[in-house]
Amino acid sequence: MAQQMVRDFAQKEVAPVIKECDRQQQMADFVLPRMAELGILGICLPVRYGGQGMDYITLGLVCEELEAIDTSLRVVMSVHLGLNSLGLFQWASEEQKQRFLVPQARGEKIACFGLTEPGAGSDVSAISSSARREGDEYILNGEKMWISLATKADHVLWFGRTTPQTDDPHDRLSAFLVELNRPGVACQDLHGKLGVRAGSTGSISFQDVRVPADNRIGQEGEGFKIAMACLDNGRYTVAAGATGLIRACLEASVRYAKERKAFGREIGRMQLVQQKIAKMVQSYEMARLLFLRSGWMKNLGLRNTRETSLAKWFSTEASFEAASEAVQIHGAYGYSDEYDVERYLRNSKGAVIYEGTSEIHQLMQAGYALGYRKDAPLSCELPAYNPEKWAEE
Ligand SMILES: Cc1cc2nc3c(=O)[nH]c(=O)nc-3n(C[C@H](O)[C@H](O)[C@H](O)COP(=O)(O)OP(=O)(O)OC[C@H]3O[C@@H](n4cnc5c(N)ncnc54)[C@H](O)[C@@H]3O)c2cc1C
Repeated sequence: MAQQMVRDFAQKEVAPVIKECDRQQQMADFVLPRMAELGILGICLPVRYGGQGMDYITLGLVCEELEAIDTSLRVVMSVHLGLNSLGLFQWASEEQKQRFLVPQARGEKIACFGLTEPGAGSDVSAISSSARREGDEYILNGEKMWISLATKADHVLWFGRTTPQTDDPHDRLSAFLVELNRPGVACQDLHGKLGVRAGSTGSISFQDVRVPADNRIGQEGEGFKIAMACLDNGRYTVAAGATGLIRACLEASVRYAKERKAFGREIGRMQLVQQKIAKMVQSYEMARLLFLRSGWMKNLGLRNTRETSLAKWFSTEASFEAASEAVQIHGAYGYSDEYDVERYLRNSKGAVIYEGTSEIHQLMQAGYALGYRKDAPLSCELPAYNPEKWAEE
């Protein structure tokens, strides 16, 4: 039901305007309010926290449907729900859940995730933003860059250094949920991106921003672990979305291969075109099984960092390849925005960069295989899905 509802929304409401939004580099004004109204923004959160009480697999299926139309829609799910709200669900106190998570799950407040800085991307421990304690408050300073929904969001899950004196750089960071209407906050949009042009990406600057100590999520020094746990959920949505993008490439390619004729027959009859289509079928099925496995593990409350990283790495690379081959099948028409496939290609590139570049995922996979990397238990795990409890008011 959720899948069908989201498919209808994406196909009937967004698809007709997406090309123009992409050209204008603007998110359509109705997108966020409609997603809120449809309950998508809190789909896999318990009803008592303002969500729809559905499971993590539903979240994946929703992301697949959204990105089959445009990546910018799935990015909303990744940052608002995957990286931020599920982070609060896992790490925030009950009081913080009531204050921040409930309005986010209902879509009354939009949330983003502020980890990356101009000088720190893959190397999260190099973050230079700082949080200095003063009585019952912290004073936050620093620049965040490449933040999806920066100018649309009301809340950011923000990471900065609280404890620079510790030996292990991973213990230096802490996480804060910050309301973006606080004095000292400046958000700006960034234009000229290769893809996700119908989405919003920007920067967030903090200059002496005062927040109550009650806005700190988790313990001081726990920020790195919190960020990585949030990425386990964000990466899951990226993997599921990339699966939808592969499906869109496959459907567009099949359609065109049966329309276009060359050398007196449909190009779909050419074996080299068939090879590309067969590869898309293979990639779609594999990507789908990989994200479904992660969703199933999340439902059971099993740690899934390894499996989610693999799903994200595989499906984003496969979607980039599928989009490139879809353009090839469309020939010169694929090179123009008359067809959707050029947008698919531009959109697919971002996902092999954000939420862990492909290189970082390869290091992770090799680390697990070689036994250099192991997942230690966390002080807060992502709650397993519980259908009865999640449906309770
Ligand atoms: C469209 C978009 C949206 C984004 N949204 C968000 C957001 O909402 N919130 C947020 O916090 N961030 C966001 N990001 C930022 C994204 O997460 C970072 O770009 C990403 O983590 C990579 O960091 P970087 O760009 O600084 O690259 P770098 O870390 O500087 O890497 C540059 C290159 O070096 C390689 N490299 C780095 N370290 C190693 C290594 N150890 N071994 C091998 N190769 C290595 C990388 O793989 C890459 O190819 C977004 C980015 C994009 C493009």
